[in-house]
Amino acid sequence: MRVTLLGTGDTTGTPTVGCDCETCEAARERGLERTRFSIHVENERTDEALLIDFSPDFRYQFLRDDVAPPDAGVVTHVHFDHLDGLGNVFRVLDSLTVYASGETDPQTGQSVAETVAEDYHYLSALEVHATTPLDPVRTCGFDVTLVPVEHPPLLCYGVAIEDRETGAKLSISGDTSYAIPDQSREVLVDPDLLIADAIVPAHFCEYHPAGGRHEDADGVPRTFGHKHMTREGALALADDLNADRTRLVHAAHYYPVEEAFEEPLAVDGEEYVL
Ligand SMILES: [Zn+2]
Ligand SMILES: [Zn+2]
Ligand SMILES: [Zn+2]
Repeated sequence: MRVTLLGTGDTTGTPTVGCDCETCEAARERGLERTRFSIHVENERTDEALLIDFSPDFRYQFLRDDVAPPDAGVVTHVHFDHLDGLGNVFRVLDSLTVYASGETDPQTGQSVAETVAEDYHYLSALEVHATTPLDPVRTCGFDVTLVPVEHPPLLCYGVAIEDRETGAKLSISGDTSYAIPDQSREVLVDPDLLIADAIVPAHFCEYHPAGGRHEDADGVPRTFGHKHMTREGALALADDLNADRTRLVHAAHYYPVEEAFEEPLAVDGEEYVL
């Protein structure tokens, strides 16, 4: 399993358009970037590629990192930064199967699968498969399981990807607070690589109108507001899940410059073989 981190940023990315903060300036100077979220997972045994989320930066990411076009994809939730790049496959791919949850979201009155099918009805290459959360589906030679996480007000899912032949396992938290349900944690546990949402450092919670939540024993918030984990929350999750290796993603340019490019915060283009 070859994993390429195509997009490791939050919804504005780093550098952010029009921003001259020290973090965005440092990213420009060092030639580093965090585009909108997407993870490319290649199965070298079957020569197939699975894409987790369709970043608005899809075209640029595939050209930059020169990875194989996807045979299948997963959409974790319907926020702009995870879905709105799907139109990029128009006249590029002849066929694409996308897996997404079939659970109805009371907020939208539709499941993620229904929203994807409706928004991209014009893509004749697209086949949307509604999946049952916590039930694995088989695609690209992997067992892929969507697991409910907490990203109010929308339903959102983390993803576990396993190769039965090699035993390799990748877990992706999805956009989530630290309050991931136990049933989901049981599916995500013991990964070779964990890719976890870590939008800001915990000390930044003072700037969120809702502050932080899910404090640890030292009072450090593991959730920023309601929707995302703090860096400390993501690291606590890695510990809870017994991850061999962890990369923190969905990082905002609000990380102070001296923290923004420190381990284990990921930048675009990183590649891991599991
Ligand atoms: Zn900035
Ligand atoms: Zn989101
Ligand atoms: Zn997001």
